[in-house]
Amino acid sequence: MFKALVLEQQDAKTHASIRQLTVADLPAGDVLVDVAYSSLNYKDGLAVTGKGKIVRQFPMVPGIDFAGTVAESASERFRPGDAVILTGWGVGENHWGGFAQKVRVNSEWLVPMPAGLNAQKAMIIGTAGLTAMLCVMALEEAGVTPDAGKVLVTGAAGGVGSVAVLLLARLGYHVVAVTGRPETHAFLSALGAKEFISREIMNQPCRPLEAQRWAGAVDVVGGEMLARVLAEMAYGGAVAACGLAGSFKLDTTVMPFILRNVSLRGVDSVSCPLARRVRAWERLAAELPEAAYADLVQSIALEAVPQAAQDIINGRVCGRVLIDLAQG
Ligand code: NAP
Repeated sequence: MFKALVLEQQDAKTHASIRQLTVADLPAGDVLVDVAYSSLNYKDGLAVTGKGKIVRQFPMVPGIDFAGTVAESASERFRPGDAVILTGWGVGENHWGGFAQKVRVNSEWLVPMPAGLNAQKAMIIGTAGLTAMLCVMALEEAGVTPDAGKVLVTGAAGGVGSVAVLLLARLGYHVVAVTGRPETHAFLSALGAKEFISREIMNQPCRPLEAQRWAGAVDVVGGEMLARVLAEMAYGGAVAACGLAGSFKLDTTVMPFILRNVSLRGVDSVSCPLARRVRAWERLAAELPEAAYADLVQSIALEAVPQAAQDIINGRVCGRVLIDLAQG
């Protein structure tokens, strides 16, 4: 028997409870993994609270990422004892996910643990940190170098934002953080943010073009915030857009694109091809300093996930939330 958080639906409402399951309860897959850690991402918050239409089949074990050790494998790529990471591929959405001590998945979804990481560090990074790295890679590929000018990170105190601030600062960029929570300034300064702008200012309606301020930007918010970021981009700048914490809408004009050569790069971590994922994980292992992991994270037991899910949806989570499957 092992422990899992199970979502069920009654009267169109999602209910989460801790259950004891057996391996026979798990869905099909060619690899069984003993999960050491999972993490809480915004999408998990939407799934567990039922506030977003993330889960469509019930019962469902949520948890869009996990790290652990292979227990059984019918795949040639993995053997029992191998350390692995999983993020995305619809796991925790339409295939039982990582909020459980055991999972059975398709081996093609697993990434071997890169040198320099372990299960705990991998899930402090998690989907949010992987996405932050993919955003940094998108800016680099668009030619945004540290000497090009200031880079902006929106939703900076959240999971994606905080890792993006840390990575960009480590790579030598001058990072300006947008946050709605002034109480997180010390946390963000410690990660490397040099300046702050309030969420209220960045959420104000804007003209098609504003004064040129940013060489690059990582946006997790969408909506009016992304519209203003685009209007404020410097000539030749690039925005990596990965989130919708504010809104999925984007009401903008073509002006930044046709008059300032600005590019808007979409970033997806869920179906990101394996080779690019592996490269992103290797870079995360290389770029993140040992001391940063403790700064980024709070650790909780599986039993605390329903409350933490409410908190992340209400914008009250700072940095990353690690779920320790051995705790509790
Ligand atoms: P998170 O930890 O909750 O961070 C989101 C941050 O956005 C919050 O901490 C807050 O930052 C800011 N925010 C929240 N509500 C806002 C609002 N109404 N207006 C303006 N800012 C707001 O979530 P996360 O896990 O980092 O995910 C962030 C976003 O990225 C989500 O939309 C998520 O779905 C998306 N995401 C996408 C991918 C992908 O593959 N494309 C992967 C991971 C995440 P401050 O308190 O600092 O203002």
